[in-house]
Amino acid sequence: MITFEEIIKKHPRCFTKQSIRNQELYGSCIPTGWGNLLDELCSKIEVALAETDAKFSVTQIKEKFGRLRFGATRLPIIEDLINDAIRRSAFTCTACGSRGSPAQIGGYLSPLCPHHFSEGVRNKLLDLIEDAAIEVEIYNSAGIYVAHLFVLDDREKYEMYISDLDLRLLAEMLSAISIKMDHVKFPASDEDNDLIELTAEEKSIFESALSK
Ligand SMILES: [Zn+2]
Repeated sequence: MITFEEIIKKHPRCFTKQSIRNQELYGSCIPTGWGNLLDELCSKIEVALAETDAKFSVTQIKEKFGRLRFGATRLPIIEDLINDAIRRSAFTCTACGSRGSPAQIGGYLSPLCPHHFSEGVRNKLLDLIEDAAIEVEIYNSAGIYVAHLFVLDDREKYEMYISDLDLRLLAEMLSAISIKMDHVKFPASDEDNDLIELTAEEKSIFESALSK
């Protein structure tokens, strides 16, 4: 995984002396898992700028609400490249760069792969996860699959959200925290709240992933 310092050295056309100085301000907000995504974006920007003498510099890079924020000189020829990287960032694990899904653990939204999702949940709930009563509700919320995970013991109740368009990845993430089919419910459609019950075919994806 390429580090932010290495990216700056590799892409002099993107980072001016001033933007390198700013690195101290924003460097710590850049997820390590996004190194390759940013390296690739900077390479594409440099190719696009090769034919021009337009002034360009990156002013800020950070993660906000689980997505990349990429501040730079606004130039029409690179607009699509930046937007594409922003879209991909929402599905790139912030810890390792693997394919992930936007997940919310204890209020903090971040794209995580099944492995780092599992680690995050375990760190958050530590002792609870092993023997707590767990209930997961999965439904389709206006085209986005959502799993609400309730961890109940006699004192507390936690709620987590995982959303993704890829059901198999969602099933994998639940499997990574040892969720079994016994814990899973598929609530009936609720038209008032735009919630749609999963189809038999969609349910079967969870049945095969969570019955091992
Ligand atoms: Zn990961």
